[in-house]
Amino acid sequence: MPRSDRDARLEYSRQIYEERGDKIRAAATAHYAANGDRIRAARAGKRTDETRRTASERQKARYRALRLEIVAAYGGKCQCCGETEIAFLELDHANDNGSAHRREIGRGAHRTYKWVKDHGFPSDFRLLCANCNQGRQRNGGVCPHVR
Ligand SMILES: [Zn+2]
Ligand SMILES: [Zn+2]
Repeated sequence: MPRSDRDARLEYSRQIYEERGDKIRAAATAHYAANGDRIRAARAGKRTDETRRTASERQKARYRALRLEIVAAYGGKCQCCGETEIAFLELDHANDNGSAHRREIGRGAHRTYKWVKDHGFPSDFRLLCANCNQGRQRNGGVCPHVR
């Protein structure tokens, strides 16, 4: 009696399971033993401290990568004084429409960076260090380094 493909496949997987069933079960048990808390939490739709931390760590890593990309795309240093320490560098709206732009795309550096990248790094942005950026704002729009 000819057997259908489906029967053949079923028979084949039965064979595999007979041969390796113990290993498959052992692997599943070990995986669950190691990750049970996370799996149960995920199934219940809960976020444990661990899943929260991992999620925020992932987000931080994405943010750092995006920031590096932005800094590199805009020359990697303060356009006023040449500061290259990345922690000091900020993206500045060269034509002073920062607040209007923030109203348009929403607050937050991450949003701005993403917008800038999605729009091909427009030339009306530039890098300034925190000093030059602050100094410019307190000095009528020109960094005290300049005058
Ligand atoms: Zn500077
Ligand atoms: Zn300056």
